[in-house]
Amino acid sequence: MFFLENKLRFNKLSIGEQMLVVFLLFIFFGLNIGFAQQSDIYIKAGILYDSEQNELLRNKVIHVKNTEIVSVGTIEMIPENAEIIDLSAYTVLPGFIDAHTHVLFSQDATEDFSEHSIHSLTMESDALRTLRGYKRAKSYLDVGITSVKDLGNSGLFLDVALRDAINEGTIEGPRIFASGPIMGATGGQVYGVSPKHQNLIDLEYRIINGVEDAQIAVREHVNQKVDLIKICADNIPNNTHLSIDEMKAIVKTANSYGLTVVAHSITNQSAWNAIQAGVSGIEHGFKLADSTLTLMAQKEVFLVPTENSRTYMKTYSKLASFDDGDLGWVDNYIDRMKGRLTRVIAKGVTIVAGSDNYTDIGGTRGESSIDMFRAYFEAGMKPLDILQSATYLSAFNLNMKNDIGVLKAQAKADIIAVKGDITKNFISTIEAIVFVMKDGDIYKSDIKQINKSK
Ligand SMILES: [Zn+2]
Repeated sequence: MFFLENKLRFNKLSIGEQMLVVFLLFIFFGLNIGFAQQSDIYIKAGILYDSEQNELLRNKVIHVKNTEIVSVGTIEMIPENAEIIDLSAYTVLPGFIDAHTHVLFSQDATEDFSEHSIHSLTMESDALRTLRGYKRAKSYLDVGITSVKDLGNSGLFLDVALRDAINEGTIEGPRIFASGPIMGATGGQVYGVSPKHQNLIDLEYRIINGVEDAQIAVREHVNQKVDLIKICADNIPNNTHLSIDEMKAIVKTANSYGLTVVAHSITNQSAWNAIQAGVSGIEHGFKLADSTLTLMAQKEVFLVPTENSRTYMKTYSKLASFDDGDLGWVDNYIDRMKGRLTRVIAKGVTIVAGSDNYTDIGGTRGESSIDMFRAYFEAGMKPLDILQSATYLSAFNLNMKNDIGVLKAQAKADIIAVKGDITKNFISTIEAIVFVMKDGDIYKSDIKQINKSK
């Protein structure tokens, strides 16, 4: 019990109190020869989600030491006097991954994206923007999302700064995979800016001017230590778009540095071009033709369908004052989304879960992000397939399949638990997070006791 509460409350103590706690722990464990090591924890899982095999297993035990999982086995592996976290009444899963976030961007439902972008660039300092981003990032941990792929609209590498501050332990937050500024054609996604202020866009996007510039842009990003590259294959509603040769240069240069490239794409043509250029994933892809889906399946290009649930869309439309009493368009939207996802699944394209929610509709950003689960469920995806798209498949496409999104030996100890029956009541269960561990540290726990085995 102390161990658990220690982790949760340690930071609230003064320096003197912290030193005393460390000293007492040292005495306590030093005098207990043969006692399980302080850093060894055994987590009893009533049900464990095996993300690789996409199945639920009963009565498993996860041995965690420091930041990693040592092994996954059964109850016999627990030694005498071991520290146990008893999650036998719950379903235990690897921490979720949201593959499409913008933690450094938030607009109100009534705001225009372009106007908000310019407002943010001119009237929100980098320091203020980053601190606000920190609060949003932290909220992901509360809902069981322990990793996010943050895909731009984050100023000049503020996402990288946030990632580094979290990794070094200065602040709490999810594991961030940062793309840095989005690479796009003239004007980026910011529309309606007068010619004399076009330079403002360079503070948010890396505008690509030709093949050679594309190579230079990737090298600049490599030096800023990004984890991946995000491009805009099209700039809708701006009409500009990257050429296939520019995208090829980006992909080739990025791959030579071990980085993958994902492409924002609204039109079918831009997705087709980006796939020809060799990108690993398509973001959004709202208008993908069957022939494009076939090509994606052949080339193993994944899709991140950034959709929203009926509830989300209704709340959004009310806040945005789209609500004139007739919400029929929401039903049409849901139907279109369902039709699209059905085709994606039928074509065998890998789906990776991503939210892309950057509008404030109330609640935290993390709460807003898990709406993707509701959206995919409403669109007809099966519960376990949704879980796999937010764990193993996401990690696989980050080249992190042995590290995150999975519960197995040598993986990071990113472990969460939910209350309920995933197969029978998917939404209510997935929203009932009772336990969150990231890198072996406990960030949330409704479990009152840590027991000692006898
Ligand atoms: Zn986005």
